[in-house]
Amino acid sequence: MVVSSESERFIADINTDFPEWYQDVVRKADLAESSPVAGCMTIKPYGYALWENMVRILDDAFKESGHQNLYFPALIPESYLQREAEHVEGFAPECAYVTHGGGKELEERLVFRPTSETIIWQTYARWIESYRDLPLLYNQWANVMRWEMRPRLFLRTREFLWQEGHTAHATQEDAIRETLQMVGIYRTFVEESLALPVYMGEKSAAERFAGAVNTYAIEAMMKDRKAIQAGTSHFLGQNFAKAFDVTFQNERGEREYVWGTSWGVSTRLVGTVVMGHGDEKGLSLPPRVAPIQVVIVPIYREDSKDRVMSAAAQIAADCRRDGIRVKVDERDQLKPGFKFNDWEMRGVPLRMELGPKDLDKDQCVVAERVTGQKEPMPLSGLVDALARKLGETQRAMYAAAEVFRAANTYDVDDYGDLTTLMDQGAFVRAHWCEGPECEAKIKADTTATIRCIPEELRGPGKCVVCGADSPGRVIVAKAY
Ligand SMILES: [Zn+2]
Repeated sequence: MVVSSESERFIADINTDFPEWYQDVVRKADLAESSPVAGCMTIKPYGYALWENMVRILDDAFKESGHQNLYFPALIPESYLQREAEHVEGFAPECAYVTHGGGKELEERLVFRPTSETIIWQTYARWIESYRDLPLLYNQWANVMRWEMRPRLFLRTREFLWQEGHTAHATQEDAIRETLQMVGIYRTFVEESLALPVYMGEKSAAERFAGAVNTYAIEAMMKDRKAIQAGTSHFLGQNFAKAFDVTFQNERGEREYVWGTSWGVSTRLVGTVVMGHGDEKGLSLPPRVAPIQVVIVPIYREDSKDRVMSAAAQIAADCRRDGIRVKVDERDQLKPGFKFNDWEMRGVPLRMELGPKDLDKDQCVVAERVTGQKEPMPLSGLVDALARKLGETQRAMYAAAEVFRAANTYDVDDYGDLTTLMDQGAFVRAHWCEGPECEAKIKADTTATIRCIPEELRGPGKCVVCGADSPGRVIVAKAY
């Protein structure tokens, strides 16, 4: 099948129609497509491979920090959800229910989990007896359902994949330390593996997880200068322990309620990478998570085909042995120029061009997706040189994202400036008095929200809205 018409490769202009650009890239780079059930998505192999690479890195980090994986069922009795008042108020509107099974109406409706605190804390009540049973440091990789009214592939879908950590502790200090540790792990992951700088900080009360005492989040800037919440970690206090009567006997023989945390990241991270690094050519993937790190495009005529293809296969085998994810583009019916554009659109970090003249000189030509620069590289020592180049690309992508964010972040002390900047798209660092009215006014006037309250921006000033004393600047932005 010939798949090479220009129209099929066309993607909307990133500068003039970002939402359309996003949809085009997700579809044409073969990450995902809409499903027969509205609001749900089919994740295609290339998109799933990207997610799997994220999962692998995160799962290792969870295990290194002492967590174990387990699995709870997807269906939760409706009565469980109603045990924690704020939690049910927050989640009930977006719940999907199972009402029938085996041809009969169920006595109690079952909720397809929107998140699993309730069923997990109901279970922890049986698993926790004494201080010796604590802490419980558990995580599950699962799907969840939230009936989003305005779904978008990866960013908001009615069913999505995620991990949810649920831990139980003997003391408040331990639970807070865990909450901060996990948002720190997310930060390291997004900065080092996804090559995107983030602001990390507490959420305002209005933006908090339903049922949490505190929520901490990481917020990254997308190419349209909007924020995306890339991960959250919640200090639950004793809220769920009290709702589900989860107590333990302490060392002095007294009964106490358990302290809890929960934390999660989702397939939204795929959308984060698309919108955080993409450009007018399409997707641009950081090497650490790219499904294909190096693509080899063999260039040959009939008389040189065998020689070039066998050299390409040898280089690919050498790369794989050293852990580089490599693919040889063997599609015979397509011209090299088409392949170059195709792999650029799919965001492969390095493209290798290999032809008979290169082989005569014991070299290949390597092009970088991010800079577009091409250079000849000797075949001897090639794998090490490619690994080095991948590392450089990873760092360069982070640096570029940092420059972009800095160029679009402003310290603002005038409310008029804030509203103007929110129209243009930006991160604003503004003083806030912590009053809910001032927060609500920003949202009503601009649709922007307080994304987080970073520790490093603490310091006295005057609220950008009302002029009252403020304990520090917060990040204000429109968000996904
Ligand atoms: Zn104020």
